[in-house]
Amino acid sequence: MDPSELQQERRRLARDLPALEEVLRACLFERSVRCGKPNCRCADPDDPGHAVVCVSRSLPEGKTSQISLPRQLVPVAEVWIQNSRRWLEAIEQISAINHELLRRRWVEPPPTEGSRRR
Ligand SMILES: [Zn+2]
Repeated sequence: MDPSELQQERRRLARDLPALEEVLRACLFERSVRCGKPNCRCADPDDPGHAVVCVSRSLPEGKTSQISLPRQLVPVAEVWIQNSRRWLEAIEQISAINHELLRRRWVEPPPTEGSRRR
């Protein structure tokens, strides 16, 4: 590929991305909980408990933050998580293109201080 093809590909990748404000770098999982009400079916030790959907987000230093999610918000979280995967994939692909552009010296250096000041 020549530089203009690479730049076109880079532009296409950047243009097709979803809105950046609708990303969530997290994962969804389901776990079962016991509500603690003595009359509930889940008080029976053989009962599997209530299925709860959780969103887990990684924090610095290997910590995670988890919240439970009402069923009706699960599709929203799923779309946001999918959006963040698309951003991360695009960052990888654009990084590969930019790496190649730098390797071949197909990039114009930014103007120096002197030439920017008029
Ligand atoms: Zn219960």
